[in-house]
Amino acid sequence: MSKGLLIVLSGPSGVGKGTVCSKLRQRLPELVYSVSATTRSPRLGEEHGVNYFFKTREQFLDMIENDQLLEYAEYVNNFYGTPRDFVEQTINAGKDIILEIEVQGALKVKEKFPQGIFVFLLPPSLDELKDRIEGRGTENKATIDHRMMVAADEISLIEHYDYAVVNDEIDLACERIQSIIVAEHCKVRKSQ
Ligand code: 5GP
Repeated sequence: MSKGLLIVLSGPSGVGKGTVCSKLRQRLPELVYSVSATTRSPRLGEEHGVNYFFKTREQFLDMIENDQLLEYAEYVNNFYGTPRDFVEQTINAGKDIILEIEVQGALKVKEKFPQGIFVFLLPPSLDELKDRIEGRGTENKATIDHRMMVAADEISLIEHYDYAVVNDEIDLACERIQSIIVAEHCKVRKSQ
């Protein structure tokens, strides 16, 4: 049986990765979503095991120690990481999985899984990105400024990705990503 695709959807915080990813999952119910572990506190409406596995710093450090994470990154004073076993089991079962993660973590996944498909979601502009982060209303000014600085650094890493998708409209962005997935399934793989 051929393995599933490991699709990494990345890009700056606030670009709409979460929204695009959930819309994509509605369109492609067979696409498996990797639920990350994090030390940040849940936002209103977020559920343990659905949006994230919410962990204490100690629990997270234990996961690192026991090699349970495929990658992890410290981002704006919190840890975020991808549980390894679930990803490996899913692709070995021939199912496609999508990881919605920040840029440093995506680059670490690329070292371990160069055959992954790396998609960078871009905002139409940096001003638009700031509006979106402010509009979410969940962050204070210092956090917004910090996130904007991180975003500018993150965009400079786009060259390491296979695809760039502009998130001008959610449905259009989803269609572009679906096209990428279809194309990747049709690809002739020369060295396996
Ligand atoms: P938020 O706090 O807004 O949910 O997420 C902050 C950033 O962490 C986002 O860019 C999100 O994509 C990223 N993130 C979520 N899960 C993971 C993960 O498992 N690993 C890494 N490296 N980043 C993640």
